[in-house]
Amino acid sequence: MDIPENVRTVLGALEAAGHEAWCVGGCVRDALRDGGQRPEDWDVASSALPEETMAVFGSRAEPTGLKHGTVTVKTEGGPVEITTYRIDGAYRDHRRPESVSFTRSIGEDLARRDFTVNAMAWNLRGELRDPFGGREDLRRRILRCVGDPDRRFEEDALRILRGLRFSAALGLSAEPGTAEAIRRNREGLGDIAPERIQSEFFKLLSGTWAAEVLREYPEVFGVFWPELLPMVGFGQRNRHHCYDVWEHTLHALAAVPEDLTLRCTMLLHDVGKPASFTLDEHGVGHFYGHPAASRRLADEMLRRLRCKTDFRETVVRLVEWHDKNIPRTDKAIRRALRILGEQDLRRLILVKRADNLGQAPEYWDRQKELDKAEEILERLLAEDACFSLKQLAVKGGDLLALGFSGPAVGEALNGLLGKVVDGALPNRREALLAYLQNEPLAEGAAKDGRE
Ligand code: ATP
Ligand code: MG
Repeated sequence: MDIPENVRTVLGALEAAGHEAWCVGGCVRDALRDGGQRPEDWDVASSALPEETMAVFGSRAEPTGLKHGTVTVKTEGGPVEITTYRIDGAYRDHRRPESVSFTRSIGEDLARRDFTVNAMAWNLRGELRDPFGGREDLRRRILRCVGDPDRRFEEDALRILRGLRFSAALGLSAEPGTAEAIRRNREGLGDIAPERIQSEFFKLLSGTWAAEVLREYPEVFGVFWPELLPMVGFGQRNRHHCYDVWEHTLHALAAVPEDLTLRCTMLLHDVGKPASFTLDEHGVGHFYGHPAASRRLADEMLRRLRCKTDFRETVVRLVEWHDKNIPRTDKAIRRALRILGEQDLRRLILVKRADNLGQAPEYWDRQKELDKAEEILERLLAEDACFSLKQLAVKGGDLLALGFSGPAVGEALNGLLGKVVDGALPNRREALLAYLQNEPLAEGAAKDGRE
C-alpha cells in the first residue's frame, strides 16, 4: 500500500518528535481491499496529545475538533486530520459518548471503532495493526462488530446504518451475530438526527450492493421510512409484473447506475402503490393514480430526512413522471425538454428503462421505445434544437424595443418558445420579430406559453 507523500511527511514529523503515528480507519480498509481505489482521505491517529501535535506542526496546525482530540494540518497535498488515540466514555441516548478520554495505546483506540474492517492501523514502516481480524474479514467480505454487537449498537445506533452502508458499498455480509443485533437494535435509530441518517442511508443507496442490503433489512429502513414496509410482499395481480411491489422496486433500483438521484427515485417510484391498489371484476390488480400517491409520500419522506430542496424536487418530479408514456416524436421530445431540461429527461429515460426491466421479461421490448426516444433526443441536441428561453433567438430587450412591458415580456417570450418548440415557428430572430409585429398582443402565444 502506498501512503501518499504528504501523509508520510506528517507521520514522519510526529515520529521524529517521539510520538507514535498510524494511518487508521477507512483509508486502511480501502487500500487493503481487492480492486479498491486509492483512498482520498487519510486519517492519522497518534499518541501525541492535541497540544503536542500543535507543537509539532506550529502554524500549519489548526485545532478543528479539540473536544475529540482532532487537529488538522495543512499540507501541499491537502489537509490531514490527526486525532489523539482515544477511548469513548459512557454513551447517552444511543448517540454520542458523554465524554472522551485520551490514551497512549493504539490498541485501545482501535477497540472503540465500529467494525473490524474499520479497526486497522498502518504505519510508515508498513506494519499493520489488526487486532480484530479486519483484514481477513475484508477478504471474506464479512461485516463484524468490534466487541459485542448488541452493546455497540446500543451505544450508538447510527452504527447500524453505517454497517449496512459498508455492506452495500463493499459487498460485505454481516456475520450472524452482527446481523441479528442489527435487527434487534433497530429502534435505536429513532434517536438519531435525521441529517445523520440521511448521510449514511444515501451512501448506502449509492452502493453497488444497495438492492441486496435493502432486501435483507427492510424492517431497519422502516424505522425512519415506515412507508416502505407495505411494499414488501405486496402482490400486484397483473401480468406486467412477475414480482411483488418491493421485489420490483429492488430490481428496478439495481437497474439504474450507482447515482443517488436515480437510486432514490427508483426506491420511491412505487411507494404509493399499496395505497392505490384496486382489483377489477376479472381479478386483475390496478394501481390507478399511483404516481401522484408516490410523489406525495416521497415528498414527505425526503423532507423527514431533511434533504436539500433541489434534490427533493428532482426526485419527486421523476417519481411523478415515471409512468408517463415516453415521448417519441421530435415535437414531443422538445416539449419534454422544455419542461424537464436535458439532465432530467436523460434521467427519466434511465428511470423508465429500469422500471421496465423490473417487469416481466415479456414486456422488455419496451426498451426499444426508449432507444427511439434517446435517438431523437441525441439528434435534437446535436442539432442545437431550441427548448429553453436561453436558446430563443429573441431576448427580453427585443420585446421592450417593440413596446412590451412588465409581465407581458415574459408571456410573449414563453409564447414564442412554445411555438418554436412545437415547430410552428423557426428559431430565427427576424421570423420571431415579424410574427410578434403581425400579432401585436401575441395572445395566442401567451396562451401556448401557459400550457
Ligand atoms: P469513509 O470512507 O466513508 O470516510 P470511514 O470508515 O473513513 O469511511 P468515517 O466516518 O470517516 O468513515 O470514520 C472514520 C473511522 O472512525 C471509521 O473507519 C471508524 O474506525 C471510526 N468511526 C466512525 N464513526 C464511528 C462510530 N459511530 N462508532 C465507532 N467508530 C466510528
Ligand atoms: Mg473517512
